[in-house]
Amino acid sequence: MLYLSTRGDPGRKHFCEILLEGLAPDGGLYLPERYPQVDAPLLARWRQAFNQGATGGYAALAFEVLSLYIDDIPAADLRALCQKTYTEAVYGTPQIVPLKKLEDPSAGSGQAGFFLEALSNGPTLAFKDMAMQLLGNLFEYELARRGEELNILGATSGDTGSAAEYAMCGKKGVRVFMLSPHGRMSPFQQAQMFSLMDENIHNIAIEGVFDDCQDIVKNVSNDLAFKRAHKIGTVNSINWARLLAQVVYYFAGYFQATTQDTERVSFTVPSGNFGNVCAGHVARQMGLPIEHLVVATNENDVLDEFFRTGVYRVRASADTHETSSPSMDISKASNFERFVFDLLGRNGLRVKALFGDALAREGRFELGADPAFADAATRYGFRSGKSTHENRLETIRDVFKRHGVMIDTHTADGVKVAREHRQPGVPMIVLETALPIKFAETIVEALGQQPHRPPQFDGIEDLPKRVRVMSASTSDVQAFVVEHCVRT
Ligand SMILES: *Cc1c(COP(=O)(O)O)cnc(C)c1O
Repeated sequence: MLYLSTRGDPGRKHFCEILLEGLAPDGGLYLPERYPQVDAPLLARWRQAFNQGATGGYAALAFEVLSLYIDDIPAADLRALCQKTYTEAVYGTPQIVPLKKLEDPSAGSGQAGFFLEALSNGPTLAFKDMAMQLLGNLFEYELARRGEELNILGATSGDTGSAAEYAMCGKKGVRVFMLSPHGRMSPFQQAQMFSLMDENIHNIAIEGVFDDCQDIVKNVSNDLAFKRAHKIGTVNSINWARLLAQVVYYFAGYFQATTQDTERVSFTVPSGNFGNVCAGHVARQMGLPIEHLVVATNENDVLDEFFRTGVYRVRASADTHETSSPSMDISKASNFERFVFDLLGRNGLRVKALFGDALAREGRFELGADPAFADAATRYGFRSGKSTHENRLETIRDVFKRHGVMIDTHTADGVKVAREHRQPGVPMIVLETALPIKFAETIVEALGQQPHRPPQFDGIEDLPKRVRVMSASTSDVQAFVVEHCVRT
């Protein structure tokens, strides 16, 4: 399988070449040349592999999916990497991504199931672990094979940074330098990141806001000489390997919600950068029988606006709302370009004109009048909706009262929007993207009680912390990186 750029560059690359890269050289994102097709016999074989507990399960399914896209890692090695990544020891459950059915006694017996797919049982209690844990193992494998090292520089407002650090801690050949806005993450998120004592993990708290952190990362990435000399890389959500890892749990959710491969299901996905739901799009393009892919946003409704109107309008950072589902507070959806590439018949020149020119010049583009726009709903099955802080509070209360299940604020965005898109006879699966303990303040506001805390996090706020506080200065951060990348 070869990979191409969404902006029309004629170059083609193998998986391991793009694994350690971010953007394609022309500024586009990587996608496979074509989506491998999963026909009925193959889908049946995957279902069987997934259901075969001890010898199969999630890790076996992950290997099946990944091996269609990766031809430059020997099969035995890839299988071992999947088995090492998706284990009960890491996820606390042998199913890795169990479905929870939200029974609704008031619905008629004909009502199809409504499910939560638990993607938040990994080390940092958010779905980003699902991909980042694999990325950590892939990076370690590939760097060792090349005899190289990598210094990952990132900016986080919470979930990405902790998922990256827990995936990379103790990994050979990798160092992580993670910038976060000083004093702005939730106490639980700060405790998660700053209590890591591994020597290859460096927390830098920047005196500023998230955008200041992101600007520093951008400045360093644009300093090509520095970047090359110090082997700077990233792990952001545009990395194709992260997206690929996420494709697996759409299949796993489908196999749990259905018994026959002819049944169709819909997914609702709490969305920010369009990474998670883009993996659903890939699964659907491979032939997984998905009826609708419902994009759920919060007040930052860039994506909902596009699917309703055909207008894609990037927000100024001053117009980005700080919400109670903060991991969806985005001003633009960095993976969206991948879907637009498919929507426009994979015309890289048009994508370049939209994302490289129009967006850079005017901060928006419009596809509403283009005949292709209707395909987003018809051919590609997309639906969308949004929710507000009040909606989240109501949904958290309602799900707790009726089902006895506590959901986090991002999942609540999903449940609220999913309820507006149910269809008779089609099971609806909402992706649970984090556990409530990560966003305790809003849970207390909704329910008047503290969320459940998994026992391994007891007292985490009291552990010693390892973090360097710094002013928002690119050169100070660069000096810190240089000082800490001396081989020991
Ligand atoms: C990152 C994140 C999201 C948004 O996912 P995207 O892939 O950016 O759309 C939603 N919920 C939680 C809890 C997250 O951490």
